[in-house]
Amino acid sequence: MRNVAIIGAGMAGLAAAERLRAAGHQTVLFEKSRGFGGRMANRRSGDFQFDHGAQYFTARGAEFFRKITEWQTQGLVAEWGPGSYVGRPGMTAPARAMAKNHTCVTEALVTRLERSEHGWHVFDENGSINAPGNGTYDGVILAVPAPQAEPLARSAKAALPQIAQARYAPCIALMLAYEPETRASADHWMRPDDSIIGWIARNSSKPGRPHDTQTWVVHARADWSRQFIDQDPRVSGEALHAHFRALTGIDAEPLYFAAHRWRYALVEQEVGMPCLFDEATMIGACGDWCLGARVEAAFDSGRAMGETMAEALAEILA
Ligand SMILES: Cc1cc2nc3c(=O)[nH]c(=O)nc-3n(C[C@H](O)[C@H](O)[C@H](O)COP(=O)(O)OP(=O)(O)OC[C@H]3O[C@@H](n4cnc5c(N)ncnc54)[C@H](O)[C@@H]3O)c2cc1C
Repeated sequence: MRNVAIIGAGMAGLAAAERLRAAGHQTVLFEKSRGFGGRMANRRSGDFQFDHGAQYFTARGAEFFRKITEWQTQGLVAEWGPGSYVGRPGMTAPARAMAKNHTCVTEALVTRLERSEHGWHVFDENGSINAPGNGTYDGVILAVPAPQAEPLARSAKAALPQIAQARYAPCIALMLAYEPETRASADHWMRPDDSIIGWIARNSSKPGRPHDTQTWVVHARADWSRQFIDQDPRVSGEALHAHFRALTGIDAEPLYFAAHRWRYALVEQEVGMPCLFDEATMIGACGDWCLGARVEAAFDSGRAMGETMAEALAEILA
């Protein structure tokens, strides 16, 4: 049995952990946030909740479809529309369930990796991060967006030059809540023909969400988000809100209003390989940026990474 550190507990990191565990190895996941799922995110505020990152997921391949069926059986996922699935009661549900099977260190922002004669060590800006086990790892998986993987790979002197090929589009998301009986021109979701807004979803129409409030999530288009990503999100949120009013006919004052900036939202240019691995350092990297802008791509990339790392560890053990 070997020990692997996984940086990032989004779908890719969790899928890699699952695969390594199935091969009989130990893993420790380091996650900078308090929760799991990364961009499969859910914000709660009082009675209101919003999936402000990924909206739904689909399965093109048999492997991810099998996983979705397993989640459905466990009540963690439900169909929102034909072939479109959502976590239940929020988008994070599948990731939270996956994380239960693994050792996870949360609120741990990894800033560098260092190798000693015993193996790899994981550091935050204050020094070595306390984790269960002996704190040394035979391999490390970077399961974070490409721009965040790059400095970590550099700190480990890992030869993973393809990371630099990946490109992301940002997205500014707006969250709104209204009284349940508020009248609107959209039932579930719309992709409007609009210069600013690319997506509007009635979050409360998703299965398993509370129906005593009406909640909405709005996503700005990539080009517009790029212009406003460094500005105060309240200002861009107001601009989105004005367009939202015009598109949905909702004139009421919202009971809740918040905007969120996703700097690395959707992959615009993927690497085109399932995962990256440097055998000399035993450092690998995975995520949606390897295969495409979808939850399924993150899952497939994470699984491929877990398999590649397991094969390399088997060679060391042989
Ligand atoms: C606005 C938006 C809308 C989307 N809509 C859809 C959709 O409708 N359908 C769909 O299929 N996909 C959608 N996506 C894309 C989907 O969410 C992603 O493809 C997928 O969730 C990526 O998973 P991942 O594990 O590769 O990365 P992430 O989910 O980003 O996970 C990476 C994790 O690493 C952590 N992390 C980062 N740096 C560090 C560090 N230094 N130390 C420790 N932890 C770190 C992060 O906190 C995060 O939890 C959307 C994304 C966004 C943002």
